[in-house]
Amino acid sequence: MQHVLQTLVQIAKLPPELVKQCNDALASKEKQNVTDCLSRCKSHLTSSGDLVKVKVNSENSADWFALRGHSELFDFSELEKLEKELSDSRLMSVNNNGYKLSDSFPGPDLDTHNMILAAMESAQNHQLVRKAGDEEASIVQSIIELLVPFLGESHLFVQLNSTSIRPDDHSHVFHAKLSEQRFWEQSRVLGEAIWIPGLSELPGFIRSKFENDNQISISDDASAVAIPLFAPSDPKSKDSVVEAGLLLLISEKITDRDVIIEKGFRLSRFVTSSWQQHLKMNQLVHTDNLTGIRNRGFFDRHFSLELERAQRQGSSLVLLLGDIDHFKKINDKYGHQIGDRVLKTVARELLQGLRRIDLICRVGGEEFALVLPNTELEPAREVVSRVQMSVSNLRLTDPNVAETIRVMISFGGAVFPEAGEDPAELYGVADKMLYLSKQQGRNRCYFWNPDGDPILTLPDFKRG
Ligand code: GH3
Ligand code: MG
Ligand code: MG
Repeated sequence: MQHVLQTLVQIAKLPPELVKQCNDALASKEKQNVTDCLSRCKSHLTSSGDLVKVKVNSENSADWFALRGHSELFDFSELEKLEKELSDSRLMSVNNNGYKLSDSFPGPDLDTHNMILAAMESAQNHQLVRKAGDEEASIVQSIIELLVPFLGESHLFVQLNSTSIRPDDHSHVFHAKLSEQRFWEQSRVLGEAIWIPGLSELPGFIRSKFENDNQISISDDASAVAIPLFAPSDPKSKDSVVEAGLLLLISEKITDRDVIIEKGFRLSRFVTSSWQQHLKMNQLVHTDNLTGIRNRGFFDRHFSLELERAQRQGSSLVLLLGDIDHFKKINDKYGHQIGDRVLKTVARELLQGLRRIDLICRVGGEEFALVLPNTELEPAREVVSRVQMSVSNLRLTDPNVAETIRVMISFGGAVFPEAGEDPAELYGVADKMLYLSKQQGRNRCYFWNPDGDPILTLPDFKRG
């Protein structure tokens, strides 16, 4: 134990008064003094995060401790045995991590506690509120926002590779241009981090990004690290780890290389796992159990997000409300179970007939809402007539039913901005148009027309 204490005093970051006590204890060669000091050092370094427990595959599979930034491993088993004996005879408080907190070492101070609590609270809010949409950039942005208050003199940015990010303004997330991706490809091995000592070595495109968008003036003392950011694992995909982009951590102060790399990897792992959780949670909360498509809750949230985006970008957007024709008759004639199968089949057909960026939601019993971003009236008419065509071409069979079952669906359409500016207004207009389609014979779609009579679209492209 004497040797362990000696090594710790030499290489660990300890407060001067503790170093003095340790040196005194070592000089006294008293076992009790050495044990006490070793115990204090261990508890100080564990609370500061410098000492971490590691599992080493050895014969006795003992727990060892690693000191951050050093390759040496420490064996505290003898100390732990003594501590256990002591704790049986002396009253000591033990916190959840198993650190022993004695009077002289009360653990993290109040400021640290407040920090931890604040981090936990905002993480919880993040889990519950989930402002972000379902897109990569929005999710990652919301996770970075969660981390920003706790970064101190560091700055965190993410550069995503994905080309499907729309040119939205995310203050901490940006899309990598091809030339920028090439820069990293040339200077970095895939999956590995690179350290950038001194900001003059940062590529110009990053410097300008930070300085223009975030009004951060980066001093030349700063250092940075680019860490791979892995995408959440997709259970359907065989590739287990895919780089989604790079996480850039910039420290305003001169920071030890290993420290900043270690911090960067921790942040990167945090972003990936939060991202994964976010997707899982969204999936659970926003999926309709029967059909597997998005539900009403998802529609309410995302329709307004899509509208805001269309307003910002000055682009058009189409809302289509669909309702299966005479669905009650299907239930009455064939039973509820067959009715459910019809719903699933129609939902799948809608999903297959639309683009990835379109939203397809079940907003009521046999009602669906489709949102087509960046779409004008004419392309929307083509989409709806194609979708109606494919639904009416469906032939459902069931061993218990002699005939094949066929379904049709009516739609009502509203085009933003002509038909209205806000979600409720557009929904009202599309609903009116749907009602008109039902009245006029079903299996058709009427679009709101600001210049006159509603515009009729039929499934077989015979337009009125
Ligand atoms: P219309 O052409 O005017 O829309 O007639 P409809 O029969 O489709 O409309 P109505 O509103 O009268 O009936 C809708 C039916 O949808 C009634 C309800 O029982 C059925 N329904 C709603 N949700 C479900 C569901 O989850 N499963 C099944 N099997 N039926 C459902
Ligand atoms: Mg209905
Ligand atoms: Mg119906």
